[in-house]
Amino acid sequence: MPYCKGCRPRDKKCAFLKKRCDLLLSGRVQYCYECAEFPCRYLQHIDKRYRERYRMSMVENLKYIKENGIEGFLKNEEEKWRCPECGAAICCHNGICFNCGLDKLKQKKQVYRWEKR
Ligand SMILES: [Zn+2]
Repeated sequence: MPYCKGCRPRDKKCAFLKKRCDLLLSGRVQYCYECAEFPCRYLQHIDKRYRERYRMSMVENLKYIKENGIEGFLKNEEEKWRCPECGAAICCHNGICFNCGLDKLKQKKQVYRWEKR
């Protein structure tokens, strides 16, 4: 499984919404909060799934970015998702570090799930 830093650092359109949103696709909005329909039903749908399964919320993140700017947001996120063992990034889909957690990842039955706490 390749490790991906995300859409924005690779200068790609949002993988979640690009098929559903012309505004994002055409670059007329950079962040969903710029849209009059924020949070639209597509964003709400994926936000619900990520809140339930992956310990994050796109809607909350976007509100934070709107209020505080992207720099501060990224700084907090780096902290939040930093592997305590090696300092690399932890995957939000399973809590596993792609640098030092590969053995753990191979043993998982459901790759895109966190272990129950
Ligand atoms: Zn690690």
